[in-house]
Amino acid sequence: MANPGEVVEIMLPVALERTYSYRVPFGNVLMPGDVVRVTLGPRETVGVVWDGDGVLPASSNRLKYVEERLAVPPLREDMRRFIEWVSNWTLTPRGMVMRMALRAPELPPEKPRLGYRLGGSEPERLTPARRRVLGHLADGFVHEKKALIEATGVSPGVIDGLVDAGAVTPVALPPEPAARMPDLDFAAASLSEAQARAAADLTQKVAARRFAATLLEGVTGSGKTEVYFEAVAEAVRQGGQALIMLPEIALTNQFLDRFAARFGVRPAEWHSGVAANKRARLWHGIAKGEVAVVAGARSALFLPFADLRLVVVDEEHDSAYKQEDGPRYHARDMAVVRARLVDAAVVLASATPSIESRVNADRGRYDHLILPERFGGRSLPAIAAIDMRSGGPERGRFIAPRLAEAVRETIAAGDQALLFLNRRGYAPLTLCRKCGHRFQCPHCTAWLVEHRFRKSLVCHHCGHTAPVPRQCPSCEAEDTLTPCGPGVERIAEEVAGLFPQAHTVILSSDLFASTEKLKQELETVARGDANLVIGTQLVAKGHNFPHLTLVGVIDADLGLGTGDPRAAERTFQLLGQVTGRAGRGDKPGRALLQSYDPGHPVMQALISGDKESFYAREIAIRAQAGLPPYGRMASLTILDEDRAKAETFARLLAKAAPFDAALRVLGPAEAPIAVIRGRHRMRLILQAPRDFALQDYIRAWLAAAPKPTGQLALEIDIDPMNF
Ligand code: ADP
Ligand code: ZN
Repeated sequence: MANPGEVVEIMLPVALERTYSYRVPFGNVLMPGDVVRVTLGPRETVGVVWDGDGVLPASSNRLKYVEERLAVPPLREDMRRFIEWVSNWTLTPRGMVMRMALRAPELPPEKPRLGYRLGGSEPERLTPARRRVLGHLADGFVHEKKALIEATGVSPGVIDGLVDAGAVTPVALPPEPAARMPDLDFAAASLSEAQARAAADLTQKVAARRFAATLLEGVTGSGKTEVYFEAVAEAVRQGGQALIMLPEIALTNQFLDRFAARFGVRPAEWHSGVAANKRARLWHGIAKGEVAVVAGARSALFLPFADLRLVVVDEEHDSAYKQEDGPRYHARDMAVVRARLVDAAVVLASATPSIESRVNADRGRYDHLILPERFGGRSLPAIAAIDMRSGGPERGRFIAPRLAEAVRETIAAGDQALLFLNRRGYAPLTLCRKCGHRFQCPHCTAWLVEHRFRKSLVCHHCGHTAPVPRQCPSCEAEDTLTPCGPGVERIAEEVAGLFPQAHTVILSSDLFASTEKLKQELETVARGDANLVIGTQLVAKGHNFPHLTLVGVIDADLGLGTGDPRAAERTFQLLGQVTGRAGRGDKPGRALLQSYDPGHPVMQALISGDKESFYAREIAIRAQAGLPPYGRMASLTILDEDRAKAETFARLLAKAAPFDAALRVLGPAEAPIAVIRGRHRMRLILQAPRDFALQDYIRAWLAAAPKPTGQLALEIDIDPMNF
């Protein structure tokens, strides 16, 4: 506690590690966590009183006073510790991490809500509109203005007229709650024996109010969601809060509807697509403990929960959990930390867990709950490969005859088929048949991707867009430009030729003007109103398409052979997810994988269903090579518009690395995409044993190393996910 005139340390939301000293203004007492307004140079900014006594610097008599304390719930101690933890782990200045926790604190003035009830007198004139309003209010209750207008279809003027006539009385209503309370008994599922056992385990962990991490591994359709819903119910029953993290929360209403089917109300939603005033209300509601359940994207970890009892990370293997800019944190790992700091339970759910989580479970650091079967006696899809070397389509086509036949059968049976290709656009590369000219992005080391629907060539790294010319810009030949390879739009073209009668839907993020439109299209598919779906990875994630019985993977090898140590794992997870969309309804499903390498361990694991051998093999490879989680890695990327400058600085940095026999510094080498947005990227990769204090090493190194100047930038990524 700091009294007037005393010095407090304030953390400011800027890229600085240190706090700033200010004086407590007269008539005020400040506590750690208080949100305050201060001036910093010429600016005003919001900051947070940080822990520790103010050290009185020599120039203390020139210290500024805190301007005011804001009427905002203070950042609790567990949040301050979490901010420090994330900062230490990711080597991001504390102020920058704190910024994420201060996203929406300044509540816009609460709009008064107006309601009406029947007044005492009869109006002189009774128009049909007036009659409708009075009829609606005849039940004697207070009706909110908005609802009343919606229900009666009258203009606000009609109501005002009735108020003037004394026939209707306005009533001030309390502000709307930020979210409604879930009804725990609304529609509890009757669980299978395996589900009930898993649910009991999780429920008991939540009730114990101790930190416990659990890997909930269950095949697609096994009911993992139903199981963790019971843990959510327990957290709420105890008067606490639960956070459910989802990788694509902004894209789907399905999860929210499912939650509503179980609990009577939708959970509060938290992601960048939620309107600012709604977010502000939620932020406060969460801080006051009034919002019981939040379903959110990774940024939800920084919400000011008053009494968090449970964190669920659904699809925990999903790479969307890794934030790739600003503080580069992995939301799954930070969810575990967040839970530990508040003595809460954390549940990591997946059908295809990350190698990291599997190893943690094997080591006993996480409990491991397994749901081995689909719910309701449903079978997993039968998976087979189509060997494209012998059974592929004719040149220039991408759907093998066997897959086309399977689609035909599926559609004929009145079911739905999905063709999956993780590539947006029409063709990943366009070249001139005559001179070999290829279209490259002027700002990136990347080919321009033709998007035929939009009639343009697009860079998928910087968004650069150019029209598709008729002439080759290099040899000026006409009509010689040839698309190479398929994207979803090209598959759609082929499908239109093969199945002209099918009702086809293409699900690719770039084809929709808004998330709302995309959500609607996903619902069309879920309802079964389309019988042929062509989609990129966004269809793989957690959707329930009950009419879907066939999944065809156009290019099952796509993610392999990239040299990324996680390539096999990622491909296995993605294909496991997407094939797992089939057969979730009443009819059994099947999947066909088009592959030029059907003997690859990933294909073999999917076909045989022998997940365990796949994990055993991957884990052995990681252990042998000292790759994560058997070793630690970090990358330092040096960026500059001038390649030579980036390289020179990277070399200087590498030379300044303190010697340590346990650690290897690899590089500098060009990053896999050497130039993005005109900036060259040189990279150093650090590899160290598991118990190596990598962050301490980097901190000491950078403190003594030359600092980037001018345009040079340095990005640090601990546990990088992309190579
Ligand atoms: P997962 O998350 O493991 O893929 P889900 O929780 O989505 O599995 O369950 C798959 C389907 O089975 C869903 O439609 C779900 O409603 C249904 N289901 C699972 N368990 C039950 C249950 N105990 N009672 C009724 N339906 C269930
Ligand atoms: Zn580009």
